[in-house]
This record gives sequence, C-alpha cells and structure tokens, in this order.
Amino acid sequence: MDFSEKARALVQEQTGEWDLVGRNYEGLQNVKVKTFDFGDYSIDIQFNSERISSSKDRGEPHLGSVDSCFLCQNNLPQAQRMIPIDNDFLILVNPYPIFPEHLTIVSVEHKDQRIYENFDRMLDLASQLSKFVIYYNGPECGASAPNHLHFQAGIKGFIPIENDFSSEICCREVRTIDEVKISHWPEYQRGIITLTGNNKSDLIGCFNKIYFQLQLLKGNSAEPMLNLITAFERKTWTIHIFPRTLHRPSQFYEKGDKQIILSPSSVDMGGLLVTPREEDFLKITEEDVFDIFEQVCFDTESVLTLINKL
Ligand SMILES: [Zn+2]
Repeated sequence: MDFSEKARALVQEQTGEWDLVGRNYEGLQNVKVKTFDFGDYSIDIQFNSERISSSKDRGEPHLGSVDSCFLCQNNLPQAQRMIPIDNDFLILVNPYPIFPEHLTIVSVEHKDQRIYENFDRMLDLASQLSKFVIYYNGPECGASAPNHLHFQAGIKGFIPIENDFSSEICCREVRTIDEVKISHWPEYQRGIITLTGNNKSDLIGCFNKIYFQLQLLKGNSAEPMLNLITAFERKTWTIHIFPRTLHRPSQFYEKGDKQIILSPSSVDMGGLLVTPREEDFLKITEEDVFDIFEQVCFDTESVLTLINKL
C-alpha cells in the first residue's frame, strides 16, 4: 500500500490546524535560495532560520531518556497527529520543514538510531512512500535524535542529486554485484556510492558489505558515519550512500566572521545546503562549499577503493 497521498493530506491538514506548522510551511515559500553552478551540476543554498535548532543544539550524542525524548509518542506536541505504518513506525509532519512536504518517520519503540538492523525497513518505507525520498542521518551525521530511531522524508524533486542521477552525467556505473548496479560520482566534490536494483535482498546484501568495509575503516564507534537517501520508482530502488569522515566542518567551530553554521546531513550531502543564519547564507562561497565537502566526505579515490573490495 502506498501511503504517499495519506501523508500529503496530513501535511495539508496540519498546516491548517497547528499554528507553528502553518507558519513554518507558509514561511518556506519565502526562504531565500541561491545556486552555485559547477558546470554539469549545481548546489543550492537555502537560508532557513527555523532550522537553527537542528543544526546547532541537537545532534550531539547524549544520554537520552524516554522522559526527555522529543520523538517518543508521549512527548509529542498535542497538536501533532500521526499515521501508523505497519505497527512499527509513525508518519509525522516535520514542523521545521526544508521541503514543502516534509515528514519525520519515527519508530514506535524508543531505540537507538542505527541503520544496520533497519536498512530493510528503509527500503520498505521508500516503496510505501513512493512520492517521497526517504533519508537517514547517522547518530553522528546530523540526526536530530540519536537515541530514537527515525527517518525523514521529503517530497521528490527538491534535492539536486535526484535530477543529477536521472541525467546520468555526473555518475558512472562501475560494478554489478548480484542484481545490484553500483555507481560512483567522479567529479561531484563528494564521494558517493549509489546502488540501484529491484531485488531487495541483493540490495541489503550489498549494503551490508559496504557497511562492513566502512566499519573496518572506522574502528569501534557505534556505527560508521554515513548519510543515506533512498527513492523508489518503477519498482526499482536507488540508494545514495554518503560515507562521512567528519560530523561538522571546521567553519562550524570558528568564531566571528569565519564561522559558518552548517551541520551537514543527508539533504546537504545531496546538494541542498541549509544555512540557518542569514549572514552565512550571504557570505558562503563556492570555495567554502568545496572546502566543507572536502572535510566531511570521502574522496573519489577512497570510494573506488572501497567498491573494489566488495
Ligand atoms: Zn524516544
């Protein structure tokens, strides 16, 4: 069953009945966007002041208890309504949107943000919400609640990598394992591994191999640092895997003029950088974007080495 239309209706309803959501979705129509043209592809910068809390305050690993967890059902705002999906997740409207239709998909159970055990569920969600892209931010890669398993979903067509993948200019297929095609992005500033296929168990097998390789590189942290963007179209899944080297670029910790508050998550990795402060939106340059990606992402060579080990 496709939940896309139900979820879109929920966004509509909540904008009408919940002041905060109404205000923030209306405000989204006026957010400023600027575009850096890099030839075959471009990067969008969005100034979105409502995102300050997710960029700055949250996302630090902490000892979260059920009592203080803002994604636990008992602590959700009273105005927040939900659509249960398969008894284990709830579809919620994200009150601080980046997209005109932006969902948070929250585990019913309070448990840690981990992808290994939940990757298959992410694929199901992509097919159950086929008008949306589903994305995952690792606990140290932009997740707003590292202690409560959740995904986010944005209506398709807003993250530049979606179109760049369709146009096939920037990415190159390098291997096939079982029924999974593996591509990388040689001239795209970010080391990305993209999987496509319609065989779910082969996709899971391939993802697990990549996860294992990343774990070897990363030692014994909770999970390898990564972001994921997944979409389902014509019975085929596309999964963009962004292995990470850093949670935040050095600019985040600078003082004064040199500081840029930007805490990259999946959406930023996909080419839509969200700056919650106007001064950063105005001053950020193409060179900053290059530099930030260089700090937080794998380079092309590391990605190719990894693919060859699979
Ligand atoms: Zn919780």
